[in-house]
Amino acid sequence: MKAEIISIGTELLLGTILNTNSALLSQRLAGLGIDVYHHITVGDNPSRLNEAIRRSLSRSDIVITTGGLGPTVDDITTETIATLAGKNLILNKVVIKDLRDYFKLRKLEPPPDCARQAYIPEGAKWIRNAVGTAPGLIMEYGGKTIIALPGPPRELGPMFERDIIPYLKTRFESSWTIKSHTIKTTGLAESQVNHLVKAILKLEPPTTVGIYAKLGEVDLRIMTKAKDKRSADKAIIAIEKKIRLKLRGYIFGYDDETLEEAVAKSLIKERKTIAVAESCTGGFLSSRLTNVSGSSRYFVMSVIAYSNASKVNILGVSESDIDKHGAVSRDVAIQMAKGIKRLACVDIGIGITGIAGPGGGTKNKPVGLVYIALVSCRKTLVREIRFRGSREEIKFQASQVALDLLRRTIRQLPS
Ligand code: AMP
Ligand code: MG
Repeated sequence: MKAEIISIGTELLLGTILNTNSALLSQRLAGLGIDVYHHITVGDNPSRLNEAIRRSLSRSDIVITTGGLGPTVDDITTETIATLAGKNLILNKVVIKDLRDYFKLRKLEPPPDCARQAYIPEGAKWIRNAVGTAPGLIMEYGGKTIIALPGPPRELGPMFERDIIPYLKTRFESSWTIKSHTIKTTGLAESQVNHLVKAILKLEPPTTVGIYAKLGEVDLRIMTKAKDKRSADKAIIAIEKKIRLKLRGYIFGYDDETLEEAVAKSLIKERKTIAVAESCTGGFLSSRLTNVSGSSRYFVMSVIAYSNASKVNILGVSESDIDKHGAVSRDVAIQMAKGIKRLACVDIGIGITGIAGPGGGTKNKPVGLVYIALVSCRKTLVREIRFRGSREEIKFQASQVALDLLRRTIRQLPS
């Protein structure tokens, strides 16, 4: 079964909004075993939209449009579909009542053009919008299916889940089970992961593996198509085992698990506490650590020691060492970690100091140079890293390395 998605809206073409609808729809369609071969984006223009829908219908079984269903003049999706299919638009009494109720409930006066949304192409099925006003449409045309969904993601999402998925399931019942499983790694570049699992990445359907690089993280996604759930699980487990052998120490989690969640899990399991002294990351690491529910069980405190004076006065960093080595140095990172560990009476202290840029770099200490120290009862570790990227990207990557350092250390601590 082949589908394609047509995203409608001039604002998408101008780049003022990001096309999240097509990403969501593609993910959900993949889960249903429906292949998506094209994403089209077209502005609020009837003839170009007409042309796009025609082309999509000529090569796909299902065409899903998003946007342009509202009451404003630039909302042209319903009229365009009706014209294309040679159908009349008929005022639907139930939809008009729905619209009146919607505004009455909110004690609002219906806008003058509101009734436009109640005109449904003859023979089409309309879908109630549980969040907003514009109904969705399902129309069978020439053996193909056209589905029109509203643009706002908070309207499209629930409508797709509640009405479209059940429709697609009964209409295009697939005899295949599709499953995917994501293995998440950190600490290696995409090229290194690629090299280690090269043979696995060349697998042919029904089981394939894709590589996806993000900032400070590389994911491997196993996809399989099988006759039943058991065979799909078996195929995934077999490949996962091979990947684990190759990437052992670099895997931090699976599917939706974040690195901070993986760290939290280990800290709770091992009953360890931590505290953080941050300079260039400005609290970002603390924020990520406390994004996990239940973080009070391991996170004790943090200090954002941005100035030299605060590093000296609060964390006990030696003033002469700052003079000698600079605030961005191995020695200062270690002293920050030791200082916060002492201050908070925790098992692990972390210190981060670096140059996030874009200004402030020198030949010896360029933008992106970051020292990350971790002090536990067992040992002191320091990493000197030269990150690339924007200020935000450098802060994120520094927090990523610190979390990874934590993840690796917790496992080795005595209980
Ligand atoms: P529309 O019904 O086309 O006027 O869309 C209404 C609003 O929904 C737009 O202004 C956007 O904020 C949002 N929207 C429309 N299409 C998309 C899309 N493809 N992805 C994310 N948001 C969208
Ligand atoms: Mg629009």
